Amino acid sequence: MPNPKRRHSKQRGRLRRTHYKVKVKSLAKCPQCGKTKLPHRICLFCGYYKGKAVIEILTKDQKKKAREKKRKA
Ligand SMILES: [Zn+2]
Repeated sequence: MPNPKRRHSKQRGRLRRTHYKVKVKSLAKCPQCGKTKLPHRICLFCGYYKGKAVIEILTKDQKKKAREKKRKA
């Protein structure tokens, strides 16, 4: 197995890492509710995509009720 002959200096490692950057995510506005969402994705706030309701978004209370219903059944 090839091994490095010498340890890299701190500067060398740090210079390499100058290219490790966090990119700003591109965001789009939901035409249905106006909140920011990821482009080409369903809006997680209203569940709409291309002007149609694709998934049902439950509020905290609705989730709680659904869980209790499951427990009883
Ligand atoms: Zn929306």
